[in-house]
Amino acid sequence: MAQATFRFHGELSDFLQHKRRNLKPEIVKTFQHRASVKDMIESLGVPHAEIEALLVDGAAVGFEKIVEDGAKVDVYPRAEMLNGRPGLMLRPPIPAPPRFVLDIHLGRLAAYLRMLGFDSAWRNDFPDDELAQVAHDEARILLTRDVGCLKRSPVIWGYFVRGTDPAAQIREVMGRFDLAPGVQLFRRCMKCNALVEPVEKDAIRDALPQGTALYFDEFHRCRDCGRIFWKGSHYERMRSLIDELMGK
Ligand SMILES: [Zn+2]
Repeated sequence: MAQATFRFHGELSDFLQHKRRNLKPEIVKTFQHRASVKDMIESLGVPHAEIEALLVDGAAVGFEKIVEDGAKVDVYPRAEMLNGRPGLMLRPPIPAPPRFVLDIHLGRLAAYLRMLGFDSAWRNDFPDDELAQVAHDEARILLTRDVGCLKRSPVIWGYFVRGTDPAAQIREVMGRFDLAPGVQLFRRCMKCNALVEPVEKDAIRDALPQGTALYFDEFHRCRDCGRIFWKGSHYERMRSLIDELMGK
């Protein structure tokens, strides 16, 4: 039997079944048949979409590298963890501004991302293979609670959302993708992801809940579904979250 040692750095240890605290998670894998480093890593539970850099015996390699007997494999979630050592880009840089597609479990997170102005595709009936294809074809980052989805080969950029509470999830995703500087409130509809535009109060007065017209003067309307937005309680919560994330 041949064997290889895998070390998973940083948050990649979240995917390992036997998580050992305060130790570098290191796994010795025995194998009979030669396979690519990507296949071996995914068989240990870590999806390729969360990996930015790979070293085999200290040398940067791509996903297709065949693992030899005795190999030592280092797996990194972010290329900057190589500390300036030359790496090999495993995927193109994330497009700016980042765009997202989210799985069925992340509807609230999609609404938050839209509220912050980020283009976020979400439907409550996206099948897994279609999610992966949309992510690929539209150059979107796939956000999911399903690790298996991140192992699908069309996925270029992806992230397993660790948190289960939407408020924790939005903090997590903003931190991981450094979203705070790109936030634009009242740009996108929380409901359908289309762009919104300013609208005069008199034009929509009849459509507002009772009392709203008394307390607010600025309104935006979705160009697509017609939904109306104003600086109500959602806005206040988002404003304080953004201030917190930007260290204000
Ligand atoms: Zn809309």
